[in-house]
Amino acid sequence: MDMATAGKPLASLGAAQGEETQGPMMQADWCNGKDCPNAAVTSLGTKSYCFDHFCGQCYELLERAEGNIARISSRTPVNREEMQSLDECAQRALEISLSEIELDNLDRARLLDILLWSGDLTSARRMQRSQASVTVAN
Ligand SMILES: [Zn+2]
Repeated sequence: MDMATAGKPLASLGAAQGEETQGPMMQADWCNGKDCPNAAVTSLGTKSYCFDHFCGQCYELLERAEGNIARISSRTPVNREEMQSLDECAQRALEISLSEIELDNLDRARLLDILLWSGDLTSARRMQRSQASVTVAN
């Protein structure tokens, strides 16, 4: 009896190791959204997302960034991470819209919205900064 139970962990360990070496990682990429069963269509940072969760993540980020930009003064240093995240959102939205993923008009509208909104925010922030440097120079 003891031997039979002792053998089990070894067998499953072997199976797990076998899986690791199997095939490319490319395909089986699933959405990192909470309890989401969908396949990922894109990624943000280190996480992969399905279309809906990608849009959700982008809107969250955009809303936060918009709040920050309204609050900070032109002398506040640019939060580079935030700027990069906004750029990444825009970049991914563009990639999805040009990819072969099937999109309806609402999906397209969301992508365009994300693209334009993140563009607005990054240029608004860069404008704040360039005005600040002009003030400093004078
Ligand atoms: Zn998802």
